[in-house]
Amino acid sequence: MTHTCDVAIVGGGIGGLTLATSLAQQSMSVQVFEQDSQLREIGAGIAIGGNATRLLHRLGVDLSPVANVPPALELRRWKDGGLLWSHPIGEWYRHEVGAAFLMLHRATLQRFLAAAVPPDCIRLSRRLAGLSDESAGVRLHFADGEDVVARVVAGVDGVNSTVRRYVCGDVAPAHSGESGSAASSRSGSRGTCPIRLHSISGADPARTLSATGSTGANW
Ligand SMILES: Cc1cc2nc3c(=O)[nH]c(=O)nc-3n(C[C@H](O)[C@H](O)[C@H](O)COP(=O)(O)OP(=O)(O)OC[C@H]3O[C@@H](n4cnc5c(N)ncnc54)[C@H](O)[C@@H]3O)c2cc1C
Repeated sequence: MTHTCDVAIVGGGIGGLTLATSLAQQSMSVQVFEQDSQLREIGAGIAIGGNATRLLHRLGVDLSPVANVPPALELRRWKDGGLLWSHPIGEWYRHEVGAAFLMLHRATLQRFLAAAVPPDCIRLSRRLAGLSDESAGVRLHFADGEDVVARVVAGVDGVNSTVRRYVCGDVAPAHSGESGSAASSRSGSRGTCPIRLHSISGADPARTLSATGSTGANW
């Protein structure tokens, strides 16, 4: 049996859920297809800049009860915690940018986004296997054998995207060599690093970071 919808969103991560919320609020017929049997985020904290919190606020996703507003972003030397760089956040940032800089746990963000999507729009355990063109739009072939035909397909299915293969061919993602922290043009910005948990304002640091000890945290 073949179902139809206006917009098929492949991937129920924070990108797919945000897009679904936005389109559903424009009264579009939208379906999110997520391969996992439940919506879950792997990871610890996520920082969301004002460009994103402004849009989330417009979508009615109020993260203020569950997020922290850090007073500053600080880059510290891993060896001794010496301050290398600091930038004010808090009220200064909110005033300058016109929206808050927030930090919260990824799973919490995903839970809030999922709650904003009309529940009948989310289809779990639907793994996209491939796509093909047809006159009415694009046919999505799912691993469970059930097809969907959509007028528009949004590929929000992560770094190993199946949708990207359909658009770009079998091209593996390549590292640009330019991403990472401000401290180094070739470094990644993540890992276990010393973080002063007491410098986080607002509430329980565990909301934002999964602490690994008194001086370390995974972010
Ligand atoms: C260590 C780390 C730290 C980061 N920190 C920040 C930060 O502080 N702030 C920030 O803004 N960004 C941060 N990012 C980037 C941010 O996490 C990503 O941009 C974001 O999670 C991407 O979300 P997404 O929904 O597009 O993709 P994903 O989170 O990858 O979700 C893709 C979804 O698609 C599903 N899927 C995949 N294939 C299929 C298929 N064939 N069929 C159906 N479903 C499928 C997956 O199961 C998954 O649920 C960080 C990234 C990393 C790796």
